[in-house]
Amino acid sequence: MVNLKDFNFQQLENYLINNGFEKFRAVQIAKWLYIKKVDSFDLMTDLSKNLRNFLKENCEINSLKLLYWEQSKIDGSIKFLWELKDKNTVETVLINEKDHKTLCVSTQVGCAVGCKFCFTTKDGLIRNLETNEIVEQYIQVQRFVGNEERISNIVYMGMGEPLANYENTKKSVQIFTDKRMVGLSNRKITISSSGIIAQIKKMYEDKEFPHVKLAVSLNAPTQSKREFLMPISQTNRLEELIKTLREIPLKPGWRITLEYVLIKGVNDTIEDAKNLVKLIKKDRNRFKVNLIPFNPYPLSEFERPEEERILAFEKVLWDNNIATFIRWSKGRDISAACGQLRKKDLLQINPV
Ligand code: SF4
Repeated sequence: MVNLKDFNFQQLENYLINNGFEKFRAVQIAKWLYIKKVDSFDLMTDLSKNLRNFLKENCEINSLKLLYWEQSKIDGSIKFLWELKDKNTVETVLINEKDHKTLCVSTQVGCAVGCKFCFTTKDGLIRNLETNEIVEQYIQVQRFVGNEERISNIVYMGMGEPLANYENTKKSVQIFTDKRMVGLSNRKITISSSGIIAQIKKMYEDKEFPHVKLAVSLNAPTQSKREFLMPISQTNRLEELIKTLREIPLKPGWRITLEYVLIKGVNDTIEDAKNLVKLIKKDRNRFKVNLIPFNPYPLSEFERPEEERILAFEKVLWDNNIATFIRWSKGRDISAACGQLRKKDLLQINPV
């Protein structure tokens, strides 16, 4: 059995041709999968009976089972827990922004990167998600909210390091941006990486990887602090990372987002802010900084800084003309905020 949501458009066409069907059928099938979002071949009424029977016998289109969803009383964000075919689970978060909706998708079950402040990585990496499992998160949540309210933005910021699941992340971005498939704007998709230098370079050299926005988890302004918080930094050194980010080609007006989780007493001092200025001041038009106050989770060893500290840190950056935004994380009351997603058994709320 193949899952049709594992195919980019070209692959879908080739699959049909190789099995004796007309090329144009790919447009019809893509429309049913990504525009109408049907979950059964029987609903694809403009396909011939012969093709529908072939698809039923050889293909599948569904891969996620919704186990539960939970909505934040504070800001309306919704967290979804899915069961995969092998019974592993992953989470997706729908975030209500002022004028649009953003979906935060997962790319792995667990994560091997091991950031010290992150809840997701506590069980290590279990496996990569398939392309269809990444794409299906969007399709199912869009179906859940109804077609009248289009989810226009996607951030690859859920469970996992997207560039460690390179091929499936790439194919899912192709499907999301292809006008014949989901058809979202490239500038409304953001890949968030922990800063694996070789993979970032590979993505920018790869002509088939659609050019979308990049966010990098920086989290510290010096090598020693970053190494403490993000062991991956031992081999992906800060200086080399910043050099890479300076050199990659950017579309006019686009900036790289530097994510910075602020942790009390660890990386939130005025000296840290000044060191961050030193690190990026020269290229400040290339970057914007997202400050994310740490969201404590059960048994976490770190704390969230007080509001004055967060604002003081932000001020140092703005005083040096570095575009800085504080992400007062959405969905904190449902553990849907950054770094809080984790495979776990929370089935008591809104079971489906
Ligand atoms: S913050 Fe992201 S990259 Fe780091 S361990 Fe967590 S999921 Fe992995």
